[in-house]
Amino acid sequence: MTEDNRTNGTGPERSTSPVLEASDVTREFGDVTVLRDVSVGLEPGTLTALVGPNGSGKTTLLRVLCGLLAPSSGEVSYHGPEVSRKIGYVQQQPAFRPEFSVQETIEFYTALVDAEPEEPLDRVGLTAAASRRVDSLSGGMTRLLGVAQATVGDPPVVVMDEPATGLDPGMRRRTFEVARSLASDGAAVLVSSHDMTLVEEYAEHVLVLDGGEVVAADSPGALCAEQEADSLWDGFEDIVEGPADELAVLGVNR
Ligand code: ADP
Repeated sequence: MTEDNRTNGTGPERSTSPVLEASDVTREFGDVTVLRDVSVGLEPGTLTALVGPNGSGKTTLLRVLCGLLAPSSGEVSYHGPEVSRKIGYVQQQPAFRPEFSVQETIEFYTALVDAEPEEPLDRVGLTAAASRRVDSLSGGMTRLLGVAQATVGDPPVVVMDEPATGLDPGMRRRTFEVARSLASDGAAVLVSSHDMTLVEEYAEHVLVLDGGEVVAADSPGALCAEQEADSLWDGFEDIVEGPADELAVLGVNR
């Protein structure tokens, strides 16, 4: 894919100063160092993708950025507006009360920040399913409800942990389209994913994590150029040793 046919526009209001920043973050679990001196910045209006082999520390980094896990050393700083909800987070397997309807679920969250439920459901395309019980939703729809929940109150930062994994191609694309639209509306969006095709198409910035360290950070086009690769898949394989077999095990298609 060339720079020209990517859907990721930069937009006139794109800022270059990060709204959320990790500086020299290290996180240990017992004797194991899962993140080592990681520094990243998330800019408003930008969709950043976090890629890396399984076990490279992606979820740990997302949880540290969201304040759900404390770093062992280093720090995370927020530089955005003082709003009631600064960061929305979509965990890998969102779980909601099964007997609630979609509408009731979103209303639970909108009530916390005095927001309206219509916009989050509309954004992810779940308005028509508002009266359905959560336990009647497909896996993809539940994931989209997780995305809707993360956008309640329009937080300046939205972090999504593998929102597309395990979904059919249409739903995978939908999650990236929602991420893209949030970024176009000004949010700093960080999405972890194994789907290099969608990352290449939608993300403006890519962070490659390997063994708990950021081993590359650039636009998809620049990463490809640096690796002299035709696609992000090929570039990724050159940056990170041996992910192809692992991704095949995960059922990720090239
Ligand atoms: P990824 O999201 O890239 O698959 P994770 O951040 O989930 O990676 O995990 C990175 C490493 O950290 C793995 O080896 C995992 O076993 C380890 N890890 C994650 N959470 C914990 C924890 N709470 N206690 C001990 N080890 C953990």
